[in-house]
Amino acid sequence: MKPRFRNLQHAVRFFRVGPAARVSIGLCSIILACLLALDLIWGVLPDQTKMLKQLREKTSELLALQAASNLSAADPKALPLVLREAVTRDPQVLSVAVRRADGQIVAQAGDHASHWVPPPDTRSEIDHVRVPLQVPEGRWGDVEISFEPADRSSIAGWLREPRVFLIVMLTVFSFVFFTLYLRRVFHYLDPSAVIPERVRKAFDGFTEGVMVVDKTGRIVLANVTFRRWVERAGTSLYGRMIQSMPWLRRALPVDPREHPWMRAMESGTAQRGDQLEFPLESGESVRTVVNCAPIQDANGAVRGCVVTFDDVTELERINTQLRAAMTDLEQSREQINRQNEELRLLAMRDALTGCFNRRALFEQFEKLVADAHAEGTPLCCIMTDIDYFKRINDTYGHAVGDRVLQLVARALGGGLRDSDVLARYGGEEFCIALPGLGLEDACAIAERLRSEIESRAGKGVRTIEGLVVTSSFGVTQLTPGVTDAAQLIDEADQALYRSKKAGRNRVTSSATASPVVSAVAG
Ligand code: GH3
Ligand code: MG
Ligand code: MG
Repeated sequence: MKPRFRNLQHAVRFFRVGPAARVSIGLCSIILACLLALDLIWGVLPDQTKMLKQLREKTSELLALQAASNLSAADPKALPLVLREAVTRDPQVLSVAVRRADGQIVAQAGDHASHWVPPPDTRSEIDHVRVPLQVPEGRWGDVEISFEPADRSSIAGWLREPRVFLIVMLTVFSFVFFTLYLRRVFHYLDPSAVIPERVRKAFDGFTEGVMVVDKTGRIVLANVTFRRWVERAGTSLYGRMIQSMPWLRRALPVDPREHPWMRAMESGTAQRGDQLEFPLESGESVRTVVNCAPIQDANGAVRGCVVTFDDVTELERINTQLRAAMTDLEQSREQINRQNEELRLLAMRDALTGCFNRRALFEQFEKLVADAHAEGTPLCCIMTDIDYFKRINDTYGHAVGDRVLQLVARALGGGLRDSDVLARYGGEEFCIALPGLGLEDACAIAERLRSEIESRAGKGVRTIEGLVVTSSFGVTQLTPGVTDAAQLIDEADQALYRSKKAGRNRVTSSATASPVVSAVAG
């Protein structure tokens, strides 16, 4: 039931006479009334019947004259020829006959018997013309001519009448053109036909921009705020498509179907969150967030769209500032982190030699001790102390002493793996942690390092010819009884002490009472 009702509604709407059509009907009626009045007074419209009748009468008179002259010439063969020629020459002429007053046909052409319908009395009609032939004694007879019927009985024949044709065409064309013209004019002149005055006034009170468009996208309402943004001096938004204004075109998508309000009307659902930036006349611009709600009539058909524009220019400006501040903050945070890391590394290192300092050594060593116990892997510790270093200081000065410390540190570091930890334990004493290595390997490494120092460290001091620097070593391995780094270092230190006692420049393992490898000090 419902769909049929809907179809009926649609049909009524389709044939509904709008205001433009109603005014057009009125204007057409006025034009027709004027035309008919003019015709009544001055006969301005052409009368085809009258003209045709006159023409046929003229033709008939000429023919009658010819017939009369033939009759008076008493040439009986000439008259039928003249009549036949009249029929063939003029397609309008169907038949011709010359009839005596007693009703006797003297000559004829065409099928006169079937075409001729005698008009009443002696008069003529438009299709049947009778021309009397006179002799001095009175009426001799008639020339009768049948013409093609001037067809007025059918609608098509009636419409072919020039005056009818003129009136019908004038009515149709003027109605169509008036309607089209008035529809356009109404769009410009009468937005209030769509939006009542009080509604417009209410919209003017809004701080947001408000625009109402009809279903074709023409603006039928724009409140004060929106007009202030987009209207230019001497222009009006009413009745215009927003994209028809060149200064607004670049704020919108190129395809008009992509405009948020057209999408809302197409889908029949509200569209929210589109952003449009309108250029102001001052050269600045206003950033807006657009919300579109389609307007539907009682039958659910979309009639237009209400569009609101929220000004987010200030919000956007603050957001931009905030984003810039956040970026600055992030950069400073990264810089601080970098500096903190540098500080941390600096705090772990000894400034003169670049080795880890004592605090960093213990931090790492404790962990290595714990890991070794947990995993059951070996861990060794080497302690080394430069021999007679005080003497170097005393003989060549502190600067040379410092240089020797650097060269010894370099020699030690060059012979170690990445996983090993080398630290300046204090003064001219260094400590090395060797994870994953047994005592034998650690002693071999210590021996290699000792030899390296002896052969190279002294030569590194270029200002002093023939300087030989040596160092004594003590090596120990972590045993289950040792629980912290300090204990392990202490054991290595005791082995180192024994190297010193045994004559220096040698390696002593904690497992043996005497040095494992001996070398003769220089
Ligand atoms: P030994 O063979 O028994 O180790 O004798 P030694 O002279 O090396 O030992 P001692 O402990 O008597 O002397 C160590 C010297 O190291 C004393 C100190 O002035 C010096 N020293 C400690 N730290 C530095 C430093 O950073 N730079 C310099 N140039 N000398 C330092
Ligand atoms: Mg020393
Ligand atoms: Mg010492």
